[in-house]
Amino acid sequence: MQRTLAQSLHIEGIGLHSGCKSVLHIKPAPVGTGIVFKRTDLPGAPEVPALYSNVVDTRNCTCLQKGEAVVSTIEHLMAALSVLRIDNALIEVNNREVPIMDGSGLIFYNELRRVGAVEQNVPEKILRILKPVSFDDGKGGSVTLSPADNLSIRFEIDFPSPVVGHQVFDAEITPEIFASRIAPCRTFCEKSQVDYLQSLGLIKGGSLENAVVLDNDKILNPEGFRVPDECVSHKVMDAVGDLYTSGYHILGRLSAIKSGHYHNNELLKKLFSNPSDYELL
Ligand SMILES: [Zn+2]
Repeated sequence: MQRTLAQSLHIEGIGLHSGCKSVLHIKPAPVGTGIVFKRTDLPGAPEVPALYSNVVDTRNCTCLQKGEAVVSTIEHLMAALSVLRIDNALIEVNNREVPIMDGSGLIFYNELRRVGAVEQNVPEKILRILKPVSFDDGKGGSVTLSPADNLSIRFEIDFPSPVVGHQVFDAEITPEIFASRIAPCRTFCEKSQVDYLQSLGLIKGGSLENAVVLDNDKILNPEGFRVPDECVSHKVMDAVGDLYTSGYHILGRLSAIKSGHYHNNELLKKLFSNPSDYELL
């Protein structure tokens, strides 16, 4: 059955890219709503459904836009909603960005679990992959969705920094695995990238409180990594969140190599352009 929140939830924090303070009110919503953002600070409070077809920017986060209304950095919240099987929610936000919190999905996951969910009286929307669908960027990054009876992800990264290096994640995405191995993992970047992005006026809200920062062979955060494979596990969370912009719970196995938000979005566009590659249950 479809599910929505048992009660409303309030979360606030700063946006990673904008540096703006934003307040979220995540509210129960009727069957068939899906996950919808609502920009309460804009005239007419426009709504932006969290769908792959509304994704307009994937460079540093997954950013939605419909009309004039932009909502960015949705992916960690979307991952928590996906794994907790929240089908319908109205997410009121009073700024252009979902708060980054501690850079992981832990606060979203814990808060959503704390308020709980209720079943609605219509079956949930499931998409089963029937044939492998791939997107390859031609530069070493690729993603493939293949048929499977559950959602599982194999993710491989290879970073020049020796503190990250080659990491592989391979597991079924269950609430237990998400809570223990994926949700605590923070976003990460190279210090050189931070300097460059800040020179462009981006990641205004970024700090060691909400990101792991790597400087060649060092990690600048005094506490170090939370788990040894924190970087690849964070990429898995991004993928879970991005896949949920399909609007469905996907039965399939994602194999990802050096990929990111761009690849995930291109993969969904390709998938939905070939109706013979999937079935809706
Ligand atoms: Zn992320």
